[in-house]
Amino acid sequence: MSNLFFASALLPQGWADNVLIRLDGRGRIVAVETGAPCPPGAERFDGAAVAGIANLHSHAHQRAIAGMGESSGEGTDSFWSWRDVMYRALDRMTPDDFQAVAAQLYMETLKAGFTAVAEFHYLHHDRDGSRYADPAEMSHRAVAAAREAGLPITLLPVLYNASGFGGTPPTAGQRRFVHDGDGFARLTERLRSAYGDADDVRLGIAPHSLRAVPDGLLADTIAAHPEGPIHIHIAEQRKEVEDCLAFSGRRPVEWLLERHAPDGRWCLIHATHMTEAEVAAVAASGAVAGLCPTTEANLGDGFFAAESYLGQGGRWGIGSDSHISVSPVEDLRWLEYGARLTSGRRTVLAGGPRRSTARRLVEDAQAGGAQASGFESGRIAPGLRADLVVLDTHHPLLAARSGDARLDGWIFAGNANLVRDVIVAGRVVVRDRRHPQEDAIAERFTHTIRRLLG
Ligand code: ZN
Repeated sequence: MSNLFFASALLPQGWADNVLIRLDGRGRIVAVETGAPCPPGAERFDGAAVAGIANLHSHAHQRAIAGMGESSGEGTDSFWSWRDVMYRALDRMTPDDFQAVAAQLYMETLKAGFTAVAEFHYLHHDRDGSRYADPAEMSHRAVAAAREAGLPITLLPVLYNASGFGGTPPTAGQRRFVHDGDGFARLTERLRSAYGDADDVRLGIAPHSLRAVPDGLLADTIAAHPEGPIHIHIAEQRKEVEDCLAFSGRRPVEWLLERHAPDGRWCLIHATHMTEAEVAAVAASGAVAGLCPTTEANLGDGFFAAESYLGQGGRWGIGSDSHISVSPVEDLRWLEYGARLTSGRRTVLAGGPRRSTARRLVEDAQAGGAQASGFESGRIAPGLRADLVVLDTHHPLLAARSGDARLDGWIFAGNANLVRDVIVAGRVVVRDRRHPQEDAIAERFTHTIRRLLG
């Protein structure tokens, strides 16, 4: 594996020019040298390198219906009417279809500048709800798609057991998701034996939500999985908060904090509806808040208490969730813009005077993404994976900028994709905005979508 040389790079201590990154045989960073000439044999990139961001929340199959729920229905449209559209599209999806959709999504994910994905994967069973011969069939397809694209994946098999608080039986539309405790244990055991040693896969679990997993089952499942990330949908919808209050007398975040003491292993997806006390407690817990601003906007969920949470040092990262948009730029921009629109001020999340807003957003998302995905990355430093994104500093938007102004240009100016190259574990997977399998993956996706939606 050749060493990598960049005209400039954002290191933990700040921007540096002429940066040589020495790698070991697995694509880990052994040493970082600055102000050095490019040695013979090193691969040279004439751009600005930054550590990649992990996309910490994905439902890959939902890429198939992105943009399909934008015509108004008979009454008031909400998250719940969108979910009906999504369930109907799922009814027809075979393992081959799922892999075709996921491969396209994961390729787009890389090209947008993400260098890992956490797949919150709940499409487990056959179309009639029966088990596949291998209960991990669909999980294998997620990994196969990620490997086709060259994207590291954190597989988070979802435990979905009930349709509402109090163990309400699942609906017919949920038949492809449902597990009891034993079935879920068999699935995770199968995944451990298949991928436990893989360098491009991390394994965790995803109890779907407090409404879909009764509390005793949640406690047993956590106890049975003492390692790896734990992701959960926590407080996306007001109705969810109201239902949780009616059932338990507690709000969802309050309930989770009280009963399950989330720590650094946890990622709280859509921690949208929180009281100030909940914001402070989650910020102090070490858990990552998994924010999906474009999906949350698209579904009319609400806006996260970003200014307060970030001000208290809370950890967070971003995910493209429903994949209505697959772009770290758009999700980071919308997080800041939501904070501006609700506060009436600018540079709300910059973190203090005379600081680059984009630098703060990017560095927080790098760190939170690494923590929630379990991949040792998120900074350019010895010991970590060389998962990197190279910005096109010759693009007119960036050509006259240096340092943090490049990040501000990347995140806030225009809609051109300024990510030129993407490197995963030291290997170039996107070069000059092209993925080597791009045409074949896109053709298979198009064919699949025509049939699924036809
Ligand atoms: Zn989700």
